[in-house]
Amino acid sequence: MAKLRRLIVHCQQHVPYYQRVFAQLGDLNPAHFQIADLARLPILERATLRERGDELTAQGWQKRLIRYSTGGSTGEPLVFYTDKHRESCLNAQKLRARTWFGVMPGDRQVDFWGSPIELSRQNRLRRLKDRWLLNQVVLSASNLTLERIDGYIGDLNRFRPRLIYGYPTVIYRIASRILETGKADSPGGSRWDRQWSPKLIACTSEMLLPHMRAVIAEAFACPIANEYGSRDGGMIAHECPAGHLHLFSDHVVVEVDRPDAEGMGDLLITNLDGYGMPFIRYRIGDRGALSDESCPCGLPLPRLRELQGRANDFLIGRDGRMIHSSAANYVLREIPALRQYQVRQRADHHFDLYMVLHRPLTEDERTRIRTGLQQVIDEPLEVNLIEQDSIAPESSGKYRWVISEARS
Ligand SMILES: [Zn+2]
Repeated sequence: MAKLRRLIVHCQQHVPYYQRVFAQLGDLNPAHFQIADLARLPILERATLRERGDELTAQGWQKRLIRYSTGGSTGEPLVFYTDKHRESCLNAQKLRARTWFGVMPGDRQVDFWGSPIELSRQNRLRRLKDRWLLNQVVLSASNLTLERIDGYIGDLNRFRPRLIYGYPTVIYRIASRILETGKADSPGGSRWDRQWSPKLIACTSEMLLPHMRAVIAEAFACPIANEYGSRDGGMIAHECPAGHLHLFSDHVVVEVDRPDAEGMGDLLITNLDGYGMPFIRYRIGDRGALSDESCPCGLPLPRLRELQGRANDFLIGRDGRMIHSSAANYVLREIPALRQYQVRQRADHHFDLYMVLHRPLTEDERTRIRTGLQQVIDEPLEVNLIEQDSIAPESSGKYRWVISEARS
């Protein structure tokens, strides 16, 4: 409450957009602000950030702002500002959550991260700093050929990190390769050294789907935890050793907008650390539900009961129904010939399925894919099967299983 009040007072004194909001509300005194008063403030939409960024930055903070831009799923870039204090708090939350698993600051760490562009921008000095001051190695998450994956397995065997951090799809592909080459009849590749395990694998940015989690757990034999945060929203929640997501409630206030019968709704994020460009009731684009249950792990931080990915991780029925993309994954993971795939639902709702294959599909598999996807969406929509040599990740280096261009 004290942090929230301080932020609200700051907004009223220094942020033009909120000065106007408070003037219009009249009777709201920032110094006596209560949690319930949050609902009287406007929801911060991406469009507002885009159109009124100047009015949302604090007066006198211009020199202290750090500029970020994100590609965004719609292809429209979003520019926003953060500041050193906010970024420090974000990093502190990451370190804090990892200690729940026995990973301490300075422990050896391997990150699978970023696009080639992002990595090449990091100069030599930065890499040396990462390696020798932070004890951390960053490996590129893009262009994951088998050769490169085998190289990474060798790197992991030598470096033996206590923490592996990165996109779950990337870690999943490395884990699959470890299981593949670990078989007695395997023709080769880098063998996994079974003498050690990391303390933790922390996954970020993408959905960690149950079948991916199972493969990663089998290959690495260590705890796996989901980190939930983003550049724009800051660090929001992290999974604990008991497998539940805990909110960093001393750094972020999370509300659920228009919850449905199960308590699910759009998450609104109020970041308590960012003063340069305050994010208050920011619609981050994810859906979730809160829980007031305690957790067997004993942490006092409240729980996020459920978290569903961004709106474009949903398939859209012709009647506007949203079907979570994991439903499509449940169908496709049962098709052994698929090495990699990406479902694109086009604006007219039909599916293009891009596939990288181990071997040609049988007629039976083609039918199972078509009818499976039609059952998921409950409509006899056209399903095009398109074979490719590889599927490129997004320009950010992130790999997406399901992309929907349809609108609900
Ligand atoms: Zn817990």
